[in-house]
Amino acid sequence: MTTEGAGPAGPPLFDIARVLPELVPLTRRTTALRPKRGAPTPYESSLGGPLLWPGDTPWPVCDRPDHHDWVESPSPGAVPMVPVLQLFARDVPQLPFPEGTDVLQLLWCALLHPDEPSGAVRPVLHWRTESALVPLVPSGIPGDVPRPAEGEYEPDFLPVACTLAPVECVDYPNRDLPEEFVPRVLRAEEEFGFFLTEFGVLESKAGGYPAWTQPPDWPYCAAGHRMEHLLSVTGDEESRMDMGDAGGVYLFVCTECPGLPYASRYDCH
Ligand SMILES: [Zn+2]
Ligand SMILES: [Zn+2]
Repeated sequence: MTTEGAGPAGPPLFDIARVLPELVPLTRRTTALRPKRGAPTPYESSLGGPLLWPGDTPWPVCDRPDHHDWVESPSPGAVPMVPVLQLFARDVPQLPFPEGTDVLQLLWCALLHPDEPSGAVRPVLHWRTESALVPLVPSGIPGDVPRPAEGEYEPDFLPVACTLAPVECVDYPNRDLPEEFVPRVLRAEEEFGFFLTEFGVLESKAGGYPAWTQPPDWPYCAAGHRMEHLLSVTGDEESRMDMGDAGGVYLFVCTECPGLPYASRYDCH
């Protein structure tokens, strides 16, 4: 874990906090996940890598009858879900974990689901405790855990295994910039020749603002609370996920309701 002052791409060209001090209260800490193609073990944080999986829990499958790929091939029926993210609390220090847990796992069905609010993949989250996990055979080794066969998934959403090199960053609102700040930001962008988006973290990350490519679409839980951004998973060359057209899947949780209900959104260019 390393720390950067601002933005995902190294030191900023200038001190945006001096140019737009009114944005400072809007900044959030985030952890850019920085996937790098590799061979992660189940004992480390990864994207598309093997998971520490409880040995007495069957591998999840998705049996939605109408899920399909982009070209709408006939539904393949029940297919195994695929590991997308495994995050150990030590690698994402600003992400709140439910008491007693220290591992967050994200899996999804790598097909498109017309009945999902996101309209895309069907994600599931598991909060787990590392010390209590009985390592299952690593899912990254073919044959140990069921993997969808070709035709049973949409390649756009099937990540190639990557290790992570998390970097803690300051995140600025991009599409979540409140309306009243827009004129001032536009003036500053013109005067100083920068774009606020250069300071937002628009890659896979934990916490901070969603890495939207389209206007924000924050979900609300069943009790009416606006949910909090948990994770953004965006397409990139390392994981070979295009997710439509440079798209992203965004996970949200409600920390006010018991059981941490979650929801997802999807967008692309
Ligand atoms: Zn499915
Ligand atoms: Zn709630």
